[in-house]
Amino acid sequence: MDDKPIDREDILKELDELHRLDSDYADGRILGSMCTEAHPFAKEVYCKFLDTNLGDPGLFKGTKQIEGKVIKSIGELLSIENPYGHIVTGGTEANLMAIRAARNHARKYKGIVNGEIIIPVSAHFSFKKAADMLNLKIIEAELDENYKIDIDSLKSSISDKTVAIVAIAGTTELGLIDPIEEISKIALENNIYFHVDAAFGGFSIPFLREAGYDLPVFDFSLEGVCSITVDPHKMGLAPIPAGGILFRKEEYLEVMAVDSPYLTVKTQSTIVGTRLGASSAATYAIMKYFGKEGYTKLAKDLMENTIFLKEGLENLGYDVVCEPELNIVAFNHPNMDTNKLAEILEKFGWKVSVAKCPKSIRVVLMNHIKLNHLKELLEDLKEIY
Ligand code: PLP
Repeated sequence: MDDKPIDREDILKELDELHRLDSDYADGRILGSMCTEAHPFAKEVYCKFLDTNLGDPGLFKGTKQIEGKVIKSIGELLSIENPYGHIVTGGTEANLMAIRAARNHARKYKGIVNGEIIIPVSAHFSFKKAADMLNLKIIEAELDENYKIDIDSLKSSISDKTVAIVAIAGTTELGLIDPIEEISKIALENNIYFHVDAAFGGFSIPFLREAGYDLPVFDFSLEGVCSITVDPHKMGLAPIPAGGILFRKEEYLEVMAVDSPYLTVKTQSTIVGTRLGASSAATYAIMKYFGKEGYTKLAKDLMENTIFLKEGLENLGYDVVCEPELNIVAFNHPNMDTNKLAEILEKFGWKVSVAKCPKSIRVVLMNHIKLNHLKELLEDLKEIY
């Protein structure tokens, strides 16, 4: 730290210089991010609530009410009237809370110690962090030929140590939706906690279904689903950090509660102590501002861009890995190594992401990627071909 105060102009100059090194969503060149530029109205509201702390909700009663309203609104989208949950920092923290709830519940009601969680090979790496922190063993269920959980593999992974089954509604690499209805039944039959990670799909599947897209049910209308992760800071256009964790029953929050002696509430179930009220306020504002109509239009626009890219790639002769269910397209050159193709695309100025399973270039069609960017990308891919 400097000994003496520095002039604000000098500080801003230095920060601006560093900020210029950051990629800019507006260029349309960031192809693999699941985040995007937040809506200006959400950013405005976010700034108003910067000093609010939901870790001490008795001091911020209004903001606490806003968080409750957001959870209720997201719950409505996910077919539950009275959800319990929180706006947290993102999908990672939401998944960590779900797995912590499952572990504590299984410990309390079934006496399971040294438990296991079953996740598909396609699960986000946040579950590996959760298992590590919570001292749980990961059992990976294989994928079928369509890159979704293989049901037989899932069934054979269940043991008397299983504390949770996880399925994904919008996988990180391919945007695919696991057979959640079937898994919900299996979880119920075996009396196992079932968590759905819809961090990516949660803000688009409900709207696409309403718009007539043939997508499966993935929410609380399925009796076995105990919790769902949904991220407003992905397709919800809320500022980072904004994740959502919703539970079917209050007891899942209760089994995580610890005493919080010096605060205005007696217990706390969240992982983070001092936590932003701004995320809840901004999410509330943008959900109101868009409404179902706005989000449906956004989700449909993103899917139209997805199909445009997919068809463009196929016309050029590239291999598309799977039929997109959500706004992700993964592809390969028929006879060029994926890393090599990624390297060339980087030289053309694209910020590329390589998927692991299967190895492919993965484009997440977020709101900052417009039709003109896709046309430029296809031009470059034509040249490369
Ligand atoms: N779950 C899924 C399916 C994801 O795609 C991601 C991130 O892309 C996460 C969880 C983690 O979310 P975050 O990066 O907001 O912590």
